[in-house]
Amino acid sequence: MRGARARGESIGFVPTMGALHEGHLSLVRRARGENGFVAVSIFVNPLQFGPGEDLARYPRRVEKDAVLLQKEGADLLYLPEAAEFYPPDFSTAVEVGAVTEGGEGAMRSGHFRGVATVVAKFFLQVEPDAAYFGRKDLQQVAVIRRMARDLDFPVRIVVGETVREPDGVALSSRNAYLSAEERALAASLPRALFAARDRAAAGGRDARALEAETRRRLEEEGLTVDYVEVVDPDSMRRLEDAAAGAAIAAAVRVGKTRLIDNVLVPVSTSPER
Ligand code: AMP
Repeated sequence: MRGARARGESIGFVPTMGALHEGHLSLVRRARGENGFVAVSIFVNPLQFGPGEDLARYPRRVEKDAVLLQKEGADLLYLPEAAEFYPPDFSTAVEVGAVTEGGEGAMRSGHFRGVATVVAKFFLQVEPDAAYFGRKDLQQVAVIRRMARDLDFPVRIVVGETVREPDGVALSSRNAYLSAEERALAASLPRALFAARDRAAAGGRDARALEAETRRRLEEEGLTVDYVEVVDPDSMRRLEDAAAGAAIAAAVRVGKTRLIDNVLVPVSTSPER
């Protein structure tokens, strides 16, 4: 990496937790297209998992991931060891304010502290010119952007669109937990979000009404709803009006698996799907 920097090549960085799928690979491809050197990390970051969450059973398949990354032309695979990355006396955290309070932050106490801390550490170690994150984790993007601005990280934050299965389900390493029946049920989440987006785009923009209707629809289809929220995607503040540029974000549980997804209300009144 030093050589690349010395040659004046820009460094693109894609942090992941592995079990790579097309969502991750789309970010790697974008980084490959925009930088001279591409670094990818795989690290199942213990700091961002709460007690009782799926840290121990999170899918790990580094060898397969390495093959995929080689095919995409990544230059460096960074695989930190948790014990080295966080020595026993590690005691610093990055706390990002308001943007972490609602949505996932409200449901998963300490999650974004863990995310911001690991990403800050990565940014200082890798010193990327650009770092790539997926829109699927909408609030994570808002948190990283806020942190990078507030702490003057000289890195461009690039956001890749959510990659979906043909039935609309957003690719996620956690989809591996779903039984066939649960996987079929999971398609209700994007369906309900697309419907809400289309309704907003067609003028039905009352955010509370949209949230309530989306929640009811998801519950009717058998999902347990953690939240449905119309928010500003930069500040993550709840909005009254689901106007163009607003995000509709939701988290549901299908059996024991928690899924998140979001859509943006488009500027045009003819939604793309
Ligand atoms: P993860 O391994 O889940 O931490 O994800 C690593 C990066 O890939 C994050 O920036 C995610 O937002 C992004 N990502 C995960 N799933 C998708 C998807 N379906 N489409 C686009 N980006 C994704």
